[in-house]
Amino acid sequence: MRPNSLHAADLAHMVHQQTDLGAHGEDGAVLIKRGDGCRVFDTEGREYIEAMAGLWCASLGFSEKRLAEAAYRQLLELPYYHTFFQKGHEPSVRLAEKLAAIAPPGKEGGGLNHVLFQCSGSEANDAAIKLIWYYNNVIGRPAKKKLIGRMRGYHGNTVATASLSGQPHMQADFDLPLGDRFLQVSNPNYYRFGQDGETEEAFSARMAAELEALIEREGGETIAAFFAEPVQGGGGAITPPRGYFEAIQPILKRHDILFVADEVICGFGRTGNLWGCETYGIQPDMLTAAKQLTAAYQPLSALLISDPIHAALLEGSRRNGSFGHGFTYGGHPVACAVALETLAIYEERDLLGHVRAVAPAFLDGLGALRGHPLVGDVRGVGLIAGVELVADKASKAPFPAAAKVGLLVQDKCQEAGLIVRAIGDRIAFTPPLIITAAEIGEMCRRFQAGLDAAW
Ligand code: PLP
Repeated sequence: MRPNSLHAADLAHMVHQQTDLGAHGEDGAVLIKRGDGCRVFDTEGREYIEAMAGLWCASLGFSEKRLAEAAYRQLLELPYYHTFFQKGHEPSVRLAEKLAAIAPPGKEGGGLNHVLFQCSGSEANDAAIKLIWYYNNVIGRPAKKKLIGRMRGYHGNTVATASLSGQPHMQADFDLPLGDRFLQVSNPNYYRFGQDGETEEAFSARMAAELEALIEREGGETIAAFFAEPVQGGGGAITPPRGYFEAIQPILKRHDILFVADEVICGFGRTGNLWGCETYGIQPDMLTAAKQLTAAYQPLSALLISDPIHAALLEGSRRNGSFGHGFTYGGHPVACAVALETLAIYEERDLLGHVRAVAPAFLDGLGALRGHPLVGDVRGVGLIAGVELVADKASKAPFPAAAKVGLLVQDKCQEAGLIVRAIGDRIAFTPPLIITAAEIGEMCRRFQAGLDAAW
């Protein structure tokens, strides 16, 4: 590495996020300089197909001029305003109106009519946690506060959302989980945790029974909410087994436990419907969205809530003199303007139709690699997929964690011009939603080259 180079400065001063900080290697981190459609180029001029859309977010790729122009127009007209103290601005109002109109049906078909904007997915889920506690205090259930997440679930990195997430490495040495309000149920990865001879439906019923046993053990009167991603992203692109959400929801209803759908990855077409809730028949009380809301061109998230929860916020605000929650940049006008343009592009270009048209090529192309000696399972829906690497296909035995086979495959893919993400030995794919069938073919060829080089 040259002294005084960009890479040397990176190593000297940048604290990279969610990274093995000791593993940048001889050449340092890959620094991405520019993007073009589904491809990005690093500072050395190397080209990559970005099969993760950055962090599951750049749905329109890396060179959509209309979004840059929408940001510029808004920057010229009103670069900043807030939504505090009886004030607001048009882009946030228009966006809230739009999201309420396109939201999936909530519990019992009720609307998710009210929107609180934040900047990130973590903040949206963090706000959901705060609002759930607030709601139960206001309606006179101060003991109903515990939250249930799932092993390998990911809901963010604030103190509360990292406590809720089932990601041990995001808790270790951070003194998390904080307090005793965070509970976990098992990870619903059928391939990995299904028992010999157990059908998917029977596995789902077992997962649901485990949830109900936990609720009964803790006392339903102490449990406020269950959080779930329709498809677990950061857990390894884990699609729910057949019948899973159908089995879970009646249990939550029986114990009057709220369902928070974390649509931060799934929202806006990733699973082939606008919402993962539609794909899996989920009727949530709250929904969080981010990432593809702005195609990642601006940081923005939204927490959608039902009428009864909103009524409690009004009541709490009366009781306390104000609704005591808000961030300076929550619902930033430039981010809202970009989100409105993003949603307009999705509709004008029928992006959902496009996702449905190319999803078979994506899932079949990756599925064709099931025969590869390293591949145990390929699963997916729409344009999200996970490939599980195994040491032994017949027994499904995993590689020892220390072998870091997932990282090796990720590195070999990178050498072949493909950016994927290794989550342990699960390789995740979430390309930009605009990816074409030809680019999918190229993506699969580069993945095969990466697998072959790692084998
Ligand atoms: N929820 C899910 C399902 C996510 O995948 C993520 C991030 O990947 C988050 C929440 C956190 O979002 P952010 O990184 O914007 O805080």
